[in-house]
Amino acid sequence: MKYRECSYYNYGAVCRAGVRVDAKRDDELRLPCVSVNGVTSTTTCSLLVMPVEAKDGKVGELAQALEAIMAGVCPQCRGAVDGEEVVGLVVHAKPCGHIVSDKRRR
Ligand SMILES: [Zn+2]
Repeated sequence: MKYRECSYYNYGAVCRAGVRVDAKRDDELRLPCVSVNGVTSTTTCSLLVMPVEAKDGKVGELAQALEAIMAGVCPQCRGAVDGEEVVGLVVHAKPCGHIVSDKRRR
């Protein structure tokens, strides 16, 4: 998987360029800030700074979790995932219930 993200992207509600990230989500909740296998959102951001080369070597925790989810497995137990359940700021994999993303930690 090729994963790239905007230099300003910080996984928070407001990126380092001061853009409200959630306001940029498209109908499928994709962001202009993140590119997965060349796929990004239908929305755009005028401040986007996307590195040309994908990060190599150390892959971020979120990228790994995304990759696992896209492959249909839980990043924690590697069990089959049949969807996600969002509880507040926490995303759980279904049906195992493991935490996929926890925005409270940011
Ligand atoms: Zn699990």
